[in-house]
Amino acid sequence: MMDNENKDKRIPLLIADHLIYEYEGGADRVRALDDVSFKIEKGEFIGLIGHTGSGKSTLAEHLNALLTPKSGTIYFNGESIFEKKYDRKRYRGHVGLVFQYPEHQLFADTVFEDVCYGPLNNGVSRKQAELTAYETIKKVGLSDECFYQSPFDLSGGQKRRAAIAGVLAMKPELLVLDEPTAGLDPAGREELLHMISGLKDEKSMSIVLISHSMEDVARYADRIMVMDKGKKVFDAEPIEVFSHAKELEEMGLAVPAVTSVMLKLKEKGFDVNTGILNVKDAADEIMRVLGDKA
Ligand code: ADP
Ligand code: MG
Repeated sequence: MMDNENKDKRIPLLIADHLIYEYEGGADRVRALDDVSFKIEKGEFIGLIGHTGSGKSTLAEHLNALLTPKSGTIYFNGESIFEKKYDRKRYRGHVGLVFQYPEHQLFADTVFEDVCYGPLNNGVSRKQAELTAYETIKKVGLSDECFYQSPFDLSGGQKRRAAIAGVLAMKPELLVLDEPTAGLDPAGREELLHMISGLKDEKSMSIVLISHSMEDVARYADRIMVMDKGKKVFDAEPIEVFSHAKELEEMGLAVPAVTSVMLKLKEKGFDVNTGILNVKDAADEIMRVLGDKA
């Protein structure tokens, strides 16, 4: 037992090792992943950011073993998932992918049946599947009335939650969410992000939240990985990443508005700390500097 625990601490949950992927289409060949490497530790919350076309979804589909790299591999708990003998069907239960516009994944007559499908397909008993479905539907914040509704009658935000519940019901060790807030109004986005950030407290599940908006992930991520043209260009804590505001802008990415204000104040000669991610800290810091001047 001791040995196992020590082993868990040493090996990262997942290692992406020099992934290269190309889409072949007609005369053009697009290198969507260009030598991408990183680690994901147990319980980590990672923001994966990049402009449209930077390779985020391609990477997500590798994490879930839907796409096979041209070269490089992914180690999950120390085992290469692209080895011939590796059980990738089982793996997809360990690493759950919530696709962009996940409502297209909903299909059953009721939300409850939809969420039961994954566990049943995994071979657990009907009773256990129902128990798990009940728990996960609650966990994503859907009300009791939604249980026996058709998933197609739900609101946009509720459909997203139902789809996330379907993936969570597989009890993944890593949850990958591909632009889960796309197309929602600001209030719906805020609510959904809040729910997702709450999943972070769940035991030791790791989360990769994909977005093209820094604002979305800045508050929640332990680490941010930035993709540009198929390459991973930054991989660090949010504050460290945002210190590269100029480079990010060139990639079509903006730092969060509050961080941007602090950077501008600094440019104007105010001696403010620019590593700030929320409005309250910004206000405190501005007051501190004004106080120093008085
Ligand atoms: P993102 O999710 O960051 O918007 P994608 O991974 O979808 O980026 O795309 C990365 C690159 O691969 C883009 O240049 C895109 O046009 C190209 N691409 C994505 N899917 C396909 C496909 N099915 N066939 C050909 N090229 C594709
Ligand atoms: Mg995408």
